[in-house]
Amino acid sequence: MEVNNIAQKRILSDRVTEVLICPKCKGGVLVTPDSILCKICRQRYPVIKGIPSLLCELTDKERDQLVIHENVFSGKKLRFYNRYMSNAFLTLIHNDYVSVIINKRLDANKLVLDIGCGSGNVGKKIINSGAHLISMDIALNAVSEARNALGNSGKDFIQSSVLRIPIEDSAVDVIIGHFILHHIDDIKKAVSEIRRVLTPDGYMVFVEPTERLTWLELWLDFFKIIHPKGPRKSIFTKVRMSMVCY
Ligand SMILES: [Zn+2]
Repeated sequence: MEVNNIAQKRILSDRVTEVLICPKCKGGVLVTPDSILCKICRQRYPVIKGIPSLLCELTDKERDQLVIHENVFSGKKLRFYNRYMSNAFLTLIHNDYVSVIINKRLDANKLVLDIGCGSGNVGKKIINSGAHLISMDIALNAVSEARNALGNSGKDFIQSSVLRIPIEDSAVDVIIGHFILHHIDDIKKAVSEIRRVLTPDGYMVFVEPTERLTWLELWLDFFKIIHPKGPRKSIFTKVRMSMVCY
């Protein structure tokens, strides 16, 4: 009975516990069911709804993104987001770019980090490969939704910023991100963090809007009709879908 209670309280797998570090000082951490304690700087991070909340020293832009995305992944807005993410075009993108990863070298030994996991739409494709998935997002509501969608078994869920990834160097085989980088104001720091946590032969795959993205502009026009107080103009002005593989 006691063993069951301990198992239920586990918040991270052994595999991810081994590579978890303090996002502030990159020191080793002590993981307990209630909090994560840095052994070096003594920063204590809470566990909220069973999810380690490893946020620290957020930039102003990150604070804005946090408020926006906690809101997006709650209540009515979440239902709207999920409808939008399940449309045919995005499903095609998910299938195409995730298949690039799966066809290359994903298997049960690989550790995959989904940055800006949202409600787990990309993660759903990854777990079919058997790879060990870490779903990470700056918004706790998003991580919580991803966990609802993917289930706990053999996966990990953390709230964190991409500017301070709480994972030690050279630990992750593949990093994926879907419409994430354009939300970040310090791309150099984000890429430097991504490179730090990737294994030497690891790789990252991002899908990002760039110069022009007609379907999204059309979608936003439609959005304005059904929701007059919605975005007045496309935030993706002059954008085009692109896939970035390194
Ligand atoms: Zn620390």
